[in-house]
Amino acid sequence: MNIEDLNRLNQEFRTKSPEEALLWTLDNLHPNVGLASSFGAEDVVVIDMMMRINPEARVFTLDTGRLNQETYDVMDEIRNKYNINIEVMFPNHDEVENMVRTHGMNLFYKSIDNRKLCCGVRKVHPLNRMLETLNGWITGIRSDQTQNRAGADKFELDEQHSGILKVNPIIDWKWEQVMDYIKKNNIPYNKLHDKGYPSIGCEPCTRAIKPGEDLRAGRWWWENDPQKECGLHVAHDSR
Ligand code: SF4
Repeated sequence: MNIEDLNRLNQEFRTKSPEEALLWTLDNLHPNVGLASSFGAEDVVVIDMMMRINPEARVFTLDTGRLNQETYDVMDEIRNKYNINIEVMFPNHDEVENMVRTHGMNLFYKSIDNRKLCCGVRKVHPLNRMLETLNGWITGIRSDQTQNRAGADKFELDEQHSGILKVNPIIDWKWEQVMDYIKKNNIPYNKLHDKGYPSIGCEPCTRAIKPGEDLRAGRWWWENDPQKECGLHVAHDSR
């Protein structure tokens, strides 16, 4: 797909629903496309939509080895509800062993470089390994989560991953729409959302937020950069 095709696609789907964008994506790319799910609220919404369109649609996840028990719980609940084989990607064990032997188990608190190294080993490299096998990927990102995501479109060409298609069906949704969809459709969701976690990552790197705080304030809370990302949705320098 070239940039003109992409622009046409975004124009066509600008006012269409997430389900219509997913229908187009699955019709055109399945089985060479999958949802990257961290099992946050947005992702379980997209899973529900995908399963209604095509029960064979692919869902993969990155198990960093440092996730919360609540995340594993919702993973199994979703697996059982939709009878899907979640494709779990693990980090390369040699890379993890080298990293923790050199820098310690909790290296991410010591410096931003260490944190990016850990996100690279535990998240970005396994993501790259999966994306090398696909022609497109689907995400649950929303534009009001970070400034980086504010400019994202429903369809993008992912230049970080050989120009494959990246589809963000609920990019223009608000948090309230996500939770409404979950409640109306009785979808299992991560119970950390009820404990003040709007955004959920790894257990040692995520905390609940206080009223009025930025939605991503709980991620890597000890860092000051307002544009905090793990590298999955932006270029990453430890790839
Ligand atoms: S979020 Fe924390 S524990 Fe998880 S991969 Fe990144 S630095 Fe490592």
